[in-house]
Amino acid sequence: MISKELLEILACPVCKESVLLESEKLVCTKCHRHYPIKDGIPVMLVDEAEELVDTDDR
Ligand SMILES: [Zn+2]
Repeated sequence: MISKELLEILACPVCKESVLLESEKLVCTKCHRHYPIKDGIPVMLVDEAEELVDTDDR
């Protein structure tokens, strides 16, 4: 689980805005990109980010 403290220091790498924890993902409050959490570690990479559409497969 992501702690509140960690959540507060995380920011979207694209727009530097804060992110919200939404089920198992972090969602940017501004651009709404979704960042996955792998093994409890948030992956704040633009390459890994999902935009609004859900795409499990590419
Ligand atoms: Zn963003």
